[in-house]
Formats: sequence, structure tokens, C-alpha cells
Amino acid sequence: EQVKDFREKNFGIEVKSSNPVPNPVQTFEQAFGTYPMIMAQIKRQGFEVPSPVQSQGWPILMQGIDMIGTAQTGTGKTLAFLLPALLHIVAQPTPRWERIGPTCLVLAPTRELAQQIEREVNKFEYENIRCVCIYGQGDKRNQIQKLNAMSEIVIATPGRLNDFADQGIVDLSGVSYLVLDEADRMLDMGFEPQVRKIVMHIRPDRQTILTSATWPKEVRALSSKLMKNPIHVIVGSLDL
Ligand code: ADP
Ligand code: MG
Repeated sequence: EQVKDFREKNFGIEVKSSNPVPNPVQTFEQAFGTYPMIMAQIKRQGFEVPSPVQSQGWPILMQGIDMIGTAQTGTGKTLAFLLPALLHIVAQPTPRWERIGPTCLVLAPTRELAQQIEREVNKFEYENIRCVCIYGQGDKRNQIQKLNAMSEIVIATPGRLNDFADQGIVDLSGVSYLVLDEADRMLDMGFEPQVRKIVMHIRPDRQTILTSATWPKEVRALSSKLMKNPIHVIVGSLDL
């Protein structure tokens, strides 16, 4: 109860979970104090405090737990899932140079959003992690080249990535961190069949993260199909 009040008063966060929920962090140091490269970039960007979805999201994701984040646009959801992704990639037991295909896959509804996420990854320049952006209308040859050049993060719109997976151009069997960003918009745009087909290529013991600005029944159904005991972090109201 105390922790619950603390969450609501100080962070405006509500959590729904069938398991214990780690406490939110109050500072960037609490989450990334042991990663000076990440701290430096956060400082360079002039951020002062973690946003609510970051405060609560980072400890959850850094423990490898599945998470649903519902919060309005502009509340810092990108870094909420991206910084734990960088740590996840480096922490995997298989040496990085021995891995086949990406370790982290982010599905996003539009090319613009995918490119925006790519820019965030590149700002951090963390441990030489490279990423490739895959979207329809983009130059296929260039995308394939980058895929083959050890891009450990793939950020993709579902249509083009599904084509690549069907054609054997990308091997998704090594993905262990999967993000469905703006799931509500992806479903509105009719991407559900492609999302479901892509996920069939990915191992079931992955960590899965879903973000959404709204919480309609279609998104609820998708999350219960694709996620394992997720903690649902709610910032603001759900507007059911
Ligand atoms: P969302 O995905 O929730 O719509 P974004 O992740 O795109 O939001 O973040 C919106 C903006 O807020 C971006 O410009 C980002 O750089 C900035 N931002 C992210 N985290 C913080 C923070 N802790 N403090 C201040 N600004 C932040
Ligand atoms: Mg976003």
C-alpha cells in the first residue's frame, strides 16, 4: 500500500501486475550510475529527471520482465525501452560477434517513427551497437547491406520486415528483446497480421515490451497473446 501511494503521489504511475513490481528509480544515477557512457549522453541532452514511465519502466526492464507502457505521446517512452535494450544486447551470454541476426527488434507503425528511434540509438553510441531501419519504399539493397553488417538492433515497419523474413533475408531467431512501439497505431494501420507473423519467427523466451497511447481491446488481446506476465505501467488515465 505504501509503495502504491508513493508511486501515485510522486510519479503519477499506476501499475497492474500479478507479480511483485520493482520500485521506481528517482534519478538517472539509480538506473545507470554504473554506465558512464549512458550517463554522459543523458547529461549532454540536458535531461534532469527520469519521466514517470522511465522511472518505473527501467527497473522492470532491467530485470528482464515483460512490460506494457501506456502513456501519452511525448512522455519519454522511447528511452524507457531503448536504454535497457542497449544493456540487454551487451549482457547476452553468446559473444556478440558469434550472433546471427539482430538481438533487439523494434516494430514501429511508420517510417518517420522508426527513423526517430534510430536517431536516439545513434546518439548514445553505446558499445558500438549498430542499428538498421527497415521500412517500405526505402532502398532494399542498402537495408540488406546494413542488416548483414552486424546490426544488433533492427527498427522496422511490419510490412517490409515481414517480406524480408519470408524471403530469408533476415534471421530473427536470435531476437531476445522485442518492442512493439505504438501498438495501437500499428493495429489501426492494419499491421496485425504482419506483426503476428513476425513474432512467430522469434523465440518464446524473449523479453517483450509494448507501448501504446491508448488501451483498446485489440491491443489488450495482442498483449495477452504475445506477452508473459507483463507488468502494466499506466501513466495518466487509461481512457477505456
Ligand atoms: P513518446 O515515445 O512517449 O511519445 P519520446 O520518447 O519520443 O516520447 O520523447 C519525447 C521527447 O522527450 C523527446 O524529445 C525526448 O528526447 C525527450 N525526453 C525523453 N526523456 C526525457 C527526460 N527524462 N527528460 C526530458 N526530456 C526527455
Ligand atoms: Mg514513442
